Amino acid sequence: MYNNLSRLSFYKLGLLSFTLLFFCKANAQQIFSNYAYPLTDFRSPLDIEPPALAGSFGELRANHFHSGIDFRTNQRTGYPVYAPADGFISRLRVQNSGFGLALYINHPNGYTTVYGHLSRFNPKIAQIAKNIQYKNKSYEIDEFPSSDLIPVRKGEVIAYTGNTGSSGGPHLHFEIRDSKTEATINPQLLGISIPDNIPPVIHAMYVYRLNGKPFNEYTPKQYFQVTGGNGTYKLNQVNTIHLNGEVGFGIVTNDRHNGASGNNGVYSIELQVDGNTVYTSALERFTFDNSKAVNSHVDYPTLQRTKQSIQKSFVDPGNPLQIYFNLVNNGHIIFNDDKLHPIKYTVTDAKGNKSTLSFNVLGDAKAIINTPELPVGTIFPYNKQNEFTTEDVKVILPKGTLYNDLNFVYKKSGKLQQNAFSNVHHIQNNLSPLHTGFEIWIKPDSTLTKFQDKALIVNINRSSQGGYFENGWVKAKPRNFGSFFIAIDTIAPSITPLNIANGKNMAGISKMNFKISDGLSGIKSFNGYIDGKWILMEFDTKTAALWHTFDERTTTGKHTFELVVVDMKDNVKRYAIEFYR
Ligand SMILES: [Zn+2]
Repeated sequence: MYNNLSRLSFYKLGLLSFTLLFFCKANAQQIFSNYAYPLTDFRSPLDIEPPALAGSFGELRANHFHSGIDFRTNQRTGYPVYAPADGFISRLRVQNSGFGLALYINHPNGYTTVYGHLSRFNPKIAQIAKNIQYKNKSYEIDEFPSSDLIPVRKGEVIAYTGNTGSSGGPHLHFEIRDSKTEATINPQLLGISIPDNIPPVIHAMYVYRLNGKPFNEYTPKQYFQVTGGNGTYKLNQVNTIHLNGEVGFGIVTNDRHNGASGNNGVYSIELQVDGNTVYTSALERFTFDNSKAVNSHVDYPTLQRTKQSIQKSFVDPGNPLQIYFNLVNNGHIIFNDDKLHPIKYTVTDAKGNKSTLSFNVLGDAKAIINTPELPVGTIFPYNKQNEFTTEDVKVILPKGTLYNDLNFVYKKSGKLQQNAFSNVHHIQNNLSPLHTGFEIWIKPDSTLTKFQDKALIVNINRSSQGGYFENGWVKAKPRNFGSFFIAIDTIAPSITPLNIANGKNMAGISKMNFKISDGLSGIKSFNGYIDGKWILMEFDTKTAALWHTFDERTTTGKHTFELVVVDMKDNVKRYAIEFYR
């Protein structure tokens, strides 16, 4: 008995020291991190070996940081997805776009794992989802089951990989979130191991002449070519850059993984001046409401003009992201002496592989590049609500919309010929990033009167911004600046049956398939009925495919079928037939 006890405590002690060792090992990789995480709680959600990523955590995407990791699935769907630890299904979601079919598991260790773009759920979960869809009479559902409804054990198959929702090819989108705050965390910090011994690649370096002014498309920018590889980079044919006054730096960098083609994002970027860190960004975790600030993290005007993502190493005052550390003067550096300053970038991937870029700056009073004069505009402070009003347009920017003080410029031009019910209002330009949408009110001309309930606002590409008529204005909330005018949508959506027709015998055919689309305002709802009873129709936004899989609800014999598709301006399209089964 005594022996057993002592062996037990020795065993426990052994486990403890093993855990400590593991933390030390993680630290030895020198990844910048502010939290301690469980390293052995989670197994991989897939059994595909070796695991490879099509997308890394925090990778720069259009209007967001990638919120998880994308596991490659060999260009096909249907791989089993395993619960990585015990827990329960805490959220069950089906969307036409977004994550498509998605599951969330809450684990007792305080983390939630998320699975997106699934092809199907396991049979038990699929039946529960279908019951909810029939109860709600809706394909799209977002349910939060209680902890006792769908418990899962580590290693249990919960679903199968797919390509549903806004997915550009078969893969598994996987996230680990803090269950309390819903902040999403880099899964590679929680023991999800991806083989990678390739250091990040540094492609280019930029100097921005900030000159004490807000960063925007007029900020003078100098490009420096970078040479090197295998972890060590320098500027091409330049040893020393002459600079004067207030500057910021920017870097173009990405990461490659073993056995994976394509580029992923880096984990952290550190900038040192004279051996002191003045800027660190680390994609350890972020919250979803801050994710759009990727547009402040990068040089947004350059992204819009050339599609190149330059990661700025200085932080805009209205940037809400909490991925920045060790900031000195927000990364703004003033060179006002005639001394030589060593500058060093260190870029690290989530495995701790590092690359450096080193060069010198010489403070040189003659090396001035002035900021050009801005066009005449109105200054909008970033930390206030801002409004702009004329007799036929009103623009409201809530506080928290801007990352920087903005020189707001407005112009107006005449009405376009087709489907236009107002002048065209040019609101700033597409080079200024916005964190949240802004409000625009446009005064319609008198010809709108009989179409008021069909009115919406479109941008210059005639892409709908939504909107509605109210008190003499058409109002909408665009996500980005641009040129806007009022249009109407009076045209019903279209329905194209692909394998069904009036009087057809559908016996032995598992699904009826359609394409549905809408020319302007977009589809608001679709509902199918067999013999007057609502049936589940599934929809995939990216392919415009709509289908119903026949089940025991449809017996052999003659049936009626009706499909009703409605757009955002309540134009209705009906399709009604009889068929046999
Ligand atoms: Zn993803």
